Amino acid sequence: MRGRLSVVTVGCKANFADSAAIVTHAARAGFEVVRGGNPADVLIVNSCTVTHRADRDSRAIVRRLRREHPGAILVMTGCFAETTPEARASLPEVDHWVGIRGPSALPELLRSLAGEAKGGDEDLSDYAADLLLGHSRTFLKIQDGCDAVCAYCVVPRARGPGRSLPRREVLERAVRAEKDGAREIVLTGIHAGRYGADRGEREGLARLVEALLQATSACRFRLGSVEPMEITSALVSLLSTNARLCPHLHVPLQSGSDRMLQRMRRPYTAKGYRERLALLAAEVPGIRLGADVIAGFPGETRDDFSETMRLILDTPLSYLHAFPYSPRAGTESAGWADDVTPGEKKRRVARLRTADAAMRKEYLGMQVGKTLIVAVAARDPGAGQARGTTENYAEAVIRSGAVPREGLIPVRIDAVRGDHLEGTAV
Ligand code: SF4
Repeated sequence: MRGRLSVVTVGCKANFADSAAIVTHAARAGFEVVRGGNPADVLIVNSCTVTHRADRDSRAIVRRLRREHPGAILVMTGCFAETTPEARASLPEVDHWVGIRGPSALPELLRSLAGEAKGGDEDLSDYAADLLLGHSRTFLKIQDGCDAVCAYCVVPRARGPGRSLPRREVLERAVRAEKDGAREIVLTGIHAGRYGADRGEREGLARLVEALLQATSACRFRLGSVEPMEITSALVSLLSTNARLCPHLHVPLQSGSDRMLQRMRRPYTAKGYRERLALLAAEVPGIRLGADVIAGFPGETRDDFSETMRLILDTPLSYLHAFPYSPRAGTESAGWADDVTPGEKKRRVARLRTADAAMRKEYLGMQVGKTLIVAVAARDPGAGQARGTTENYAEAVIRSGAVPREGLIPVRIDAVRGDHLEGTAV
């Protein structure tokens, strides 16, 4: 059987990179890959388990897809599929469960669904830099797994120890993606700031970025998430001197209280975090900085939370991803009393989200009148517009008589509309 296949992704940029790989394997197996929402014969849910909510979303998507596509084959993969074998009995909607620790399992399943013999001599690497259905923007996974021991985190259990893709291979994939039309390559990893550390390299990420910039000329690069202590002066200097390295960084915070950071086993202090962000803001003017924050970690008092709010309000952050703490089976903190009440967690998350909305609004407002470079992701010639992402990580709608083709388009920003910018191609 060959037919139409669609992939739905939940979670982080590393998962999007995995989905790009799935799309490639599916195309090689002979499937026609279609966008979500279209009729499909095979549906793959690339799930996430970082929070209870991610679990819930992964389950809900599977149930919705089953209702919408009663005859399709439904495959569940990703972190949720890897770490929660007990969920299988409660989700009869799923036809095939595929973990992520054995990278060849999914390509093999795709080939067998496509009616091909198992095995084969294809490169079954789980790393990819492939264009997701014609976008100018693509994800290149440079690293997977994590050796850290954050008390709340289930990811090392799902993805195993840190390992980096060889530099030569990253370069080859980036050059190929650029040749295929990628104009923005997002470098992803579970712990990308430790790129090369498994081979004993120092400054591995900065050296890799330098090499990528030398090996390519038409595309730009975006770093995903980098832990605060991994923002080295070499990385800051690259961000400040290279227009092809997007001025945007996601720097997980989790808490602004040293007591909480220590309990979470996060290897930095609030002061250290402030200093790294201040350095970035001073050296890379206009850089967009975002953070993850957990509210209601075991033992978090109101004072601890106030310290988090204080730090957020006086650092140059411009967006937050705020989560209520939820214990994940198999983690250290799951054995501790989950002692912040659900109501209090909700209040703290609401305060974080209010701060997030205000920071986003302020940052987007500051973009009006500027010319930003948009990586076009979707075109709608009927409506005379296109959509994409600016170098400083804002969604932008481009209004124009001649709808720009995919690529990097200079756009004069005219207005903010809700959560996105609006502008005219120049
Ligand atoms: S650094 Fe900490 S939070 Fe991030 S994946 Fe590793 S263990 Fe999880």
